[in-house]
Amino acid sequence: MKAGIHPKYNKVMVTCACGNTFETGSVKNEIRIETCSECHPFYTGRQKFAEAGGRVDRFNKKYGLKSQQQ
Ligand SMILES: [Zn+2]
Repeated sequence: MKAGIHPKYNKVMVTCACGNTFETGSVKNEIRIETCSECHPFYTGRQKFAEAGGRVDRFNKKYGLKSQQQ
């Protein structure tokens, strides 16, 4: 009766806040992250959130905030 000791390891889709998605292995069914290698400033050299599909803008509007210029 050793079944269940090891978590099931699936391929899951990782969804980034910038809209990028990629596959990885995880015991989870779904992963959501805020930055990935496509949009993280360390890789891109600049903050790319504001031009990545407007998701941040919509989030800010939902909560009555203005987009902040950084
Ligand atoms: Zn990303």
